[in-house]
Amino acid sequence: MPDTDFQLSQLDQLNAEFEKAAPQDILKWAATRFGERLALVTSFQPTGIVTLHMLSEIAPHTPVLTLDTGLLFPETYALINELEQRLNLNLIRLRPAQTVEQQAEAHGPELWARNPDQCCNLRKVIPLDQSLKGYDAWITGLRRDQSEGRSSVQVVAWDQKHQNLKLCPFATWTEEMIWLYLNAHELPYNRLHDQGYPSIGCYPCTQPAAPGADKRAGRWVNSAKTECGIHLPQKS
Ligand code: SF4
Repeated sequence: MPDTDFQLSQLDQLNAEFEKAAPQDILKWAATRFGERLALVTSFQPTGIVTLHMLSEIAPHTPVLTLDTGLLFPETYALINELEQRLNLNLIRLRPAQTVEQQAEAHGPELWARNPDQCCNLRKVIPLDQSLKGYDAWITGLRRDQSEGRSSVQVVAWDQKHQNLKLCPFATWTEEMIWLYLNAHELPYNRLHDQGYPSIGCYPCTQPAAPGADKRAGRWVNSAKTECGIHLPQKS
């Protein structure tokens, strides 16, 4: 059964405590509090890689959920395989009900170009929703400096949709802090970052961005879409 005994006052207190806490301390609290009912959700962006490295030392058996849409860059698949081996991850690859080819037969070719919300729903949101039902808390790599839409992300929030707790241990970290950690620990990262991609998702919907642009620039550039639908506005 989901752990629903969190009250608003508890969340306020936790957020006050965690606002200045190190991510390792937040992860330790979560691993102790939720044990095997805790999962990390990552698309192997830099913040996710830092989280994986810290968790591999704190709670190495934590399930790691990643969405394999079938439309990731070869560089992303290579990075996932490398980190799975190096950190001995308990990796669970979530796949949509339909392959890319089956989706094209059912909804027409290149659904992402005509209706990216429906495509993201089929290939990301539904598979993750189904999986997250089994956990009491989940960790994400959202940070406040990534975009205007993420600027008020809290460290701990009640996830109404999934009826569990959503943790953003790196909410207060900056891009620079993430890269300092990655380099200090000689961790691999997606080589597409060296080619001007600030954020990397499915290849049909991801492009390089101008230097200094929003961290989410380059995603769904031909539409007003900025999020895939996994990260709904928080309710604290
Ligand atoms: S990011 Fe693009 S290709 Fe990937 S699921 Fe969303 S719309 Fe489809």
